[in-house]
Amino acid sequence: MNRLSQISNNLLITDLKDLVAQEREMLLEILRYLKVVENRQLYLKMGYPSQFAFLTEALSYSEGAAQRRIQTMRLMKALPEVESKIESGEISLSVASQVQGFIQREDKRRKIEKSPLLQPTEKHKLLNQLEGTSSRECERQLVKISPEAAMPLEKTKPLSESKTLIQFVANSELMNKNQRLKSLTSHTNPEGKYEELFNKLTELALDKLDPERRVERREKRKKQKSAKQHPSTPNPSLKELPYADHLKAQRKSPNTKKSPRAWAPCGARALGGSLKRKVPDLPTCSRSQQQVPTPPPTPAVEKELSKTVLLTKKAAKQAQVPLKGLGPSSNKTPMTSENINNHEQLAKKKNKNSPPTSAVQRTRHIPTQLKDRIYQRDHGKCQYQAPQSHKSCGSTYFLELDHRYPFSLGGEHSEKNLRLLCKSHNLYGSELIR
Ligand SMILES: [Zn+2]
Repeated sequence: MNRLSQISNNLLITDLKDLVAQEREMLLEILRYLKVVENRQLYLKMGYPSQFAFLTEALSYSEGAAQRRIQTMRLMKALPEVESKIESGEISLSVASQVQGFIQREDKRRKIEKSPLLQPTEKHKLLNQLEGTSSRECERQLVKISPEAAMPLEKTKPLSESKTLIQFVANSELMNKNQRLKSLTSHTNPEGKYEELFNKLTELALDKLDPERRVERREKRKKQKSAKQHPSTPNPSLKELPYADHLKAQRKSPNTKKSPRAWAPCGARALGGSLKRKVPDLPTCSRSQQQVPTPPPTPAVEKELSKTVLLTKKAAKQAQVPLKGLGPSSNKTPMTSENINNHEQLAKKKNKNSPPTSAVQRTRHIPTQLKDRIYQRDHGKCQYQAPQSHKSCGSTYFLELDHRYPFSLGGEHSEKNLRLLCKSHNLYGSELIR
């Protein structure tokens, strides 16, 4: 530092220019190295799911710096003259990276439109056109060339520990759908906030797609089923409740029989208005009866009401009106010989349609329950481990199920033979086998 304070202005600038030239040379050398690393897929072997992860995690580049180097290196692969342009300073790292991003988006857009992709001559022309421009000027020119491909990129920016800014460009089709959704959810989201809308959509999508939620639902259903099979077990939650709450809880409780009073005397409510008209002899209750508070049904009253239920069902059967919530699949329906036959027929049909066990074992289809168990066991992460460092990949993106012993060689669908791998490591593994 002392040396710098003592040298002349001219020497300072000359030295600085030399250092910048060395920096460019160094940058170019790094890009050449990155090209070989990518060609050899070394980052995969070392346990990184992508070149980007390797640069940010192993080489400590910031996300932006890593992205610019990877994009420029790929542009160098497509257009070799980029090397000399970077060395001479005719094109900067950020402009080269913008050009590569533009080419990728433009090709993607053309693919969707099924029009021809950018030809090498067009790419050369584009590069020459943007030579010597600043990053901002480059952006302006790209917007002029193709407004669609030069739209701002999606990005997330943390604003605080609990808040993040999300930016993306929505097309008119998405905006129309959003508008429709805003109308449909206006009762719960009167201001039409995108955050609430996005949260609702995320919840819906996770309910459908998240294997962990599926496992939770399955376990809940299993518990409910087991509770139904032991109806004599008292429901502790129903004790010491006020009567109104008692009825409400009984209706909600999966392992409690629906109170006949809740619907039987007013059969029309449970069976629909049409039934009330078609079956005039159905027992009904008057308004005054409904308004009088009734104590919880005693066993004797319950027996009487059960008779009413059976009569109601019989009448409905005669009128050929389906009983809502009491169809053959409901366990509230008495198991008549007709129902038993139906069940047997269904079971036979199911067995007939089921393929033999040996065929099931050799199908590539993996049952969803097994997939979900593997996902839960592997904590939703890629299980690849680098052979030397034992570094785990741990990626949560593009996950696939991999057979440790290949399916094509007789490997089976089992918890022991299956594991989660990210797409890159799955492909890497299959390439090693070839
Ligand atoms: Zn991986």
